[in-house]
Amino acid sequence: MKIVYNRCRQCLHPLSANISWEALFSWQQKKLCDECQGKLKSLKAPWCLYCSRPMVRNECCADCRRWERTRHWSGLLARNISLFSYDGHLQEVISTYKYRGDVALAHVFTETLKRTYRKKFKGAIPVPIPLSQERLLERGFNQAAVLAEQLPVAYSACLVRVVDEGKQSKQTRRGRLHSHARPFSFQGDAARVAGKHMLLIDDIYTTGTTLRKAAVPLLEQGAKQVSALTVARG
Ligand SMILES: [Zn+2]
Ligand SMILES: [Zn+2]
Repeated sequence: MKIVYNRCRQCLHPLSANISWEALFSWQQKKLCDECQGKLKSLKAPWCLYCSRPMVRNECCADCRRWERTRHWSGLLARNISLFSYDGHLQEVISTYKYRGDVALAHVFTETLKRTYRKKFKGAIPVPIPLSQERLLERGFNQAAVLAEQLPVAYSACLVRVVDEGKQSKQTRRGRLHSHARPFSFQGDAARVAGKHMLLIDDIYTTGTTLRKAAVPLLEQGAKQVSALTVARG
């Protein structure tokens, strides 16, 4: 039998394995050691029912209330569910995944993504937040699309990014909130969106601005509702 050396993608510790075919199979699927996997902090209630921010009781947080009070932003995003708290550890895992290009790390989130989809968003059509052409060439993959591939249903690539990420992130938070620029547009068959529940997929929910901007073209095409599923809550 060929010996496969496998290490944790994050801390590089060798992964231990029981020598049975079944264990070997799941061991090869494993990307993080038990310790690194165990350090991921799942988000769960009590939390903000709209954005997954940890709270003392289930309610709507001040930021979400502000979104809904603001004319241009209200009603765009029905709900965001994030899987894990964006602490130092998850920050490192996501940066290995996204910036060092360790695409296989997406599998760390597969089970939780699938479970959450089935439990909370069954029937919704996943739509990954797109990268600009320029960023896609630079990175080689779209981290959101690889996450969307982990879901039990096919995703739709019906959004394109028409304003590149650099221009957006150079603005201050206040500038971003107040700019109504449209970084995304719709492509494809409108009939496949009309009346549907669309589910935006991304790695991190930070302010929620990007996700709300991405919801606009989908709602314009007649989507019934737009929600979001993200790995980390910043
Ligand atoms: Zn590890
Ligand atoms: Zn909230």
